Amino acid sequence: MLTPTDKIWHNGRFIPWADATIHVLSHVVSYGSSVFEGIRCYSTPAGPAVFRLREHVRRMVDSAKIYRMENLGYSAEQLGDAMLELVRVNRMDSCYIRPIALRGYGEMGVNPLHNPIDIYLACWSWGKYLGEEALAEGVDVCVSSWNRFAPNTLPALAKAGANYMNSQLIKMEALANGYSEGIALDTAGYVSEGSGENIFVVRDGKIHTPPLGASVLPGITRDSILTLARDLGIPLVETIIPRELLYIADEVFFSGTAAEITPIRSIDKIKIGSGRRGPVAEKLQKEFFGVITGSREDRYGWLTPVHAAVGA
Ligand code: PMP
Repeated sequence: MLTPTDKIWHNGRFIPWADATIHVLSHVVSYGSSVFEGIRCYSTPAGPAVFRLREHVRRMVDSAKIYRMENLGYSAEQLGDAMLELVRVNRMDSCYIRPIALRGYGEMGVNPLHNPIDIYLACWSWGKYLGEEALAEGVDVCVSSWNRFAPNTLPALAKAGANYMNSQLIKMEALANGYSEGIALDTAGYVSEGSGENIFVVRDGKIHTPPLGASVLPGITRDSILTLARDLGIPLVETIIPRELLYIADEVFFSGTAAEITPIRSIDKIKIGSGRRGPVAEKLQKEFFGVITGSREDRYGWLTPVHAAVGA
């Protein structure tokens, strides 16, 4: 159950958490017309800092554009500033931030263009998505019987509410069968991604990850891993991945804002590599957690401090 914080930002104003409600006939309720983000704010020795704020705001604006929400009413910079203000107003040290742009109450019918666009920014405290233990031990997952959507059906590059009906099918099926997550294939039968995570496959020291054309969300954590791998000198290719490469991999791991970098120890009850976190995932985790906890230098400017530096 969510633990409420004090305030939610709605169209430029802070309102009490409990007042952030919408009408049941809002367009989004029937037709799934929303775009959103999931962002983490981490506690660092220098105070709370948001991970890759600019990139998340940019993806939200991109998602909106794909769905012809041309005018959100706020610039990317204003939205980013409002998110920082949100964390300050709620006096959070670390939290998860959920911005949502939705088609609101007005007309009824499929055409969304006459409905207002409402923007909400909320934050709350959220721990490790697949469990603390998962980061060290790895998780047991399956290949889903559900595919990701075909490229000419729902646009995968947009982080849109409706996409998550597909994610829910993948997740529920996995849980029903005793797995913690499912890996979906694309409609060509190649590996795509988890219900809420991108995926990486290591064999013979080389990392493989599906390209953006494989119906994946362009993950910000995925992008961070591409950067870290390059800097660490670990070869990485974006390439189509046949399902069976998963089974014979030395390591497989997920990436995502919620999942961070989570190793996978078995797929369809087949042990992956040594059956626990492998050296490549561990190395990437070390770098990643080093940056987000502030114990390693933020070489890439990934952290935005929530409180402006004193004297700045
Ligand atoms: N794929 C899907 C379907 C997701 O929901 C997420 C989480 N946003 C990801 C991948 C990972 O993206 P990110 O690293 O930006 O959180």
